[in-house]
Amino acid sequence: MQIQTIELLSGSPGTQQSLQVLRFGTPGARPKVYIQSALHADEVPAILVAHHLAQLLEQAQADGTVCGEVVLVPFANPIGLGQHLFGQHQGRFDLRDGGNFNRGYPELAAKVVDSVRPLLTQDVDSNTRCIRAAMLQAVESQTSANPTQDLKKQLLKLAVDADVVLDLHCDTDAVMHLYALTPQSATAEQLGAALGARAVLLATESGDSPFDEACTRPWFDLQKLLPEFPIALACFGATVELRGETDTNHALAEQDAQGVCAFLAQQGVISGVPDSLRIAQCVPTPLSGSEPITAPHAGVVVFHRNPGERVVGGDVIADVVDALTGNVTQLRCKSDGLLYARCGSRWAVPGKRLAKIAGTSLARTGKLLSP
Ligand SMILES: [Zn+2]
Repeated sequence: MQIQTIELLSGSPGTQQSLQVLRFGTPGARPKVYIQSALHADEVPAILVAHHLAQLLEQAQADGTVCGEVVLVPFANPIGLGQHLFGQHQGRFDLRDGGNFNRGYPELAAKVVDSVRPLLTQDVDSNTRCIRAAMLQAVESQTSANPTQDLKKQLLKLAVDADVVLDLHCDTDAVMHLYALTPQSATAEQLGAALGARAVLLATESGDSPFDEACTRPWFDLQKLLPEFPIALACFGATVELRGETDTNHALAEQDAQGVCAFLAQQGVISGVPDSLRIAQCVPTPLSGSEPITAPHAGVVVFHRNPGERVVGGDVIADVVDALTGNVTQLRCKSDGLLYARCGSRWAVPGKRLAKIAGTSLARTGKLLSP
């Protein structure tokens, strides 16, 4: 295993943060896999999975079974890891300006379409290499105005030419689920099966350009922008939600790391992993069909249903209790589906999303992810 340190742009004199990058396999070998943990820095179960994954990959390297290259960043967000406010860890938003660490990555298709058009041919593999080089150059040419922009740039630079990108997160209180690109449904289903995901949520554009989509969607966009050339969807990416934020458990983390390795074996990155043929626990559903259960007014939240439970339209998911008026508002879901995530706090304000259900009957539009 090689350890690389990338110094980030300093925000003020005397401060310097850095990324530690663990590399397995042969530099430049294919398939290339990029895995990062806790881009939302308070989602620490992802860091525990990285810990177990690093051990498995180190063993695979010692056994000579890493065929491609694996790049693992166990702490993807050193800025967020250091952010505490009044005793609470704040890892989702940049305290400097409120920006979400997993939004606002560049839309690379628009940046490279003009430069790659004259270079593309009818050879799909040659086109893949050409587009990867152009995207890498587009990321490298960005200038960073502050440490968070530099962090986003350095992470994307590590990932953008990979065949597989796994962005490991967790939700607040949830079962295992993942997000991926609709045209990559089959691979997403394989990953979901390997990890025991209870929901696989698909979109072609979920809104505000999260990290995984910055790596995957350019290929999809370039197919539409340049229909005269054969262009592969050369990067599979997913955001993996490793249950809830308090689910730090060695047995589960080791199981998850083994699930990642089983998936990597299916993708031809490592060999010698027993093919345990895990059975998918769900079929992928559209992210636009994910139903948020939203509080209409302030009050105390009392849940009637737990993550992992199947619900049917009309079921009561939660009450919101207003002790002043005596009102108890029952919140019912519209969709049949799986309740896959709940909020952490039991105090609701108007508009707060209390729970999410993976259904198929809704067709939401606009920004599909939580802010
Ligand atoms: Zn997250």
